[in-house]
Amino acid sequence: MGQISLVFASIGLVLFSGASANPLDKRAAVDDCLSRLKVPVFTPGSGDYTQALKPFNLRVTFKPAAYAVPTTVQHVQDAVSCGAQNNVVVTAKSGGHSYGSHGLGGEDGHLIVDMKNFNTVTVDQGSSTAVIGTGGRLGNVATALYNQGKQAISHGTCPGVGVGGLTLHGGYGLISRSKGLTLDNIVEATVVLANSTVVTASTTQNPDLFWALRGAGAAFGIVTNFKFKTFTAPENNIVFNYQVSPGNAAQLAQIINAMQNFTRFEQPPELNMRLFLSGFTTFSGVYYGSRANFDAIMNPLKQKMGIGNAFGSVSTNSWLNTLTSFSNGPLQQAAVYDTHETFFSKSLMPEYLPPAAVDALSRYWEQNARSNSRSWYLLFDSHAGAKSAISSVSADSTSYAHRNATFKMQFYDRVNSGNYDPSWFPFLNNWIKAIKDASPGINYGMYINYADTSLTKDEAHKSYWLGNYDKLVQVKAAYDPKKVFVGPQLVGS
Ligand SMILES: Cc1cc2nc3c(=O)[nH]c(=O)nc-3n(C[C@H](O)[C@H](O)[C@H](O)COP(=O)(O)OP(=O)(O)OC[C@H]3O[C@@H](n4cnc5c(N)ncnc54)[C@H](O)[C@@H]3O)c2cc1C
Repeated sequence: MGQISLVFASIGLVLFSGASANPLDKRAAVDDCLSRLKVPVFTPGSGDYTQALKPFNLRVTFKPAAYAVPTTVQHVQDAVSCGAQNNVVVTAKSGGHSYGSHGLGGEDGHLIVDMKNFNTVTVDQGSSTAVIGTGGRLGNVATALYNQGKQAISHGTCPGVGVGGLTLHGGYGLISRSKGLTLDNIVEATVVLANSTVVTASTTQNPDLFWALRGAGAAFGIVTNFKFKTFTAPENNIVFNYQVSPGNAAQLAQIINAMQNFTRFEQPPELNMRLFLSGFTTFSGVYYGSRANFDAIMNPLKQKMGIGNAFGSVSTNSWLNTLTSFSNGPLQQAAVYDTHETFFSKSLMPEYLPPAAVDALSRYWEQNARSNSRSWYLLFDSHAGAKSAISSVSADSTSYAHRNATFKMQFYDRVNSGNYDPSWFPFLNNWIKAIKDASPGINYGMYINYADTSLTKDEAHKSYWLGNYDKLVQVKAAYDPKKVFVGPQLVGS
């Protein structure tokens, strides 16, 4: 569990001062409340606290008002009540991988409720379900599921990402076109609400909350665990990785256009693929089927993309090796997570990239990105389409707004050491601007799991939740009228 200290500030020494302007001034009052209710905390100055405040994205750090590390659901309820009583907003943290460090509040002064101790995975093979704590990290969860009857769920690729944030806002990985997003596989969620009560959310219990949790969860409560549908992990999977080297904008445009056409109309659900455009460029993915069928699909596609002769590897892999192929390291994660990057990121979720947008994107790459020596990339994940499981869910059955986004595009600009210089923000901002300027009238949408810290609240709300935003605000008013769970980009904030 790590080193947890209990704060036993004497009652009465600290008097709550009412609505103070600065939530950091309320640290003593909140700590006192947590102490009285025996909620474990990390205290400033301790090694645990210092480590816990290091987010995945070191560019975006924040100072909380207090830091709770509950071990029971009652602790979570008590922590929420301490925040609410003291007018300090409450934020759940699971894996700490939010690009905007939203797990640390996304701004100073929140009471952080770190769910790291809620990390168990219990499979019920009879019903093909698993109860999974939200504080688990994906690599550990995948391993635990596999060790209990070779079960699996659909989830993202990075083994350090937390189940909580990933699932509540999407959850795309290399089996999502076959099995849906992570959030599509939730059967029910156990949630601590703003009034500190515990409820179950499912299609039959609190269905409006269940709808909101699946796409915008952080604003609605603290989820302690999910029950997921599981499936038997597929083995003998075809993992492919081709090196492609577009020589100019026209060649890149051909790759993107062919991939887009294929994804929209033809791509079978058992094929999941991505284009990773960077200093080196790869076209990779997984096919859940036979090698012969893979070749029959892939060879003509590569011809259309103009990469028929691309050098690469195609191998047959077990489920766990398939996950490892895309995880940049081992699945099993250390108890103290200490992997970080320093970056700025943006996303687009286009239903369709018109030819003019593809041309603008490709020209920007040719003229501005190719010569950029920082460690940037643009990732195109084939997401929706006529045969994708993601698109088979109707647009209004969850609050996830991007059911028909052909690509999930992630723009990422990082430095390998030192700080991210503010003069570098225009690099990605202008790339998106070039695409949008070339295709006026399209609301592209963005993915909150790739939180873009440069957005205003209004831009964030409109881009992340599109037409679902107004209904989300209504559900927020019903479940969190006093705005206990807020943040710079959350629903209703
Ligand atoms: C290296 C890397 C790889 C990634 N790969 C993928 C990928 O393959 N596919 C994909 O879809 N995404 C991917 N992501 C994005 C990732 O899904 C998001 O960053 C996600 O929000 C991280 O969840 P977390 O719990 O780790 O983060 P946190 O920062 O802890 O939380 C993120 C948000 O969720 C809220 N939250 C967390 N836990 C709870 C809870 N229990 N109850 C209520 N609210 C909660 C937080 O308050 C915060 O707003 C990746 C991110 C990184 C850094």
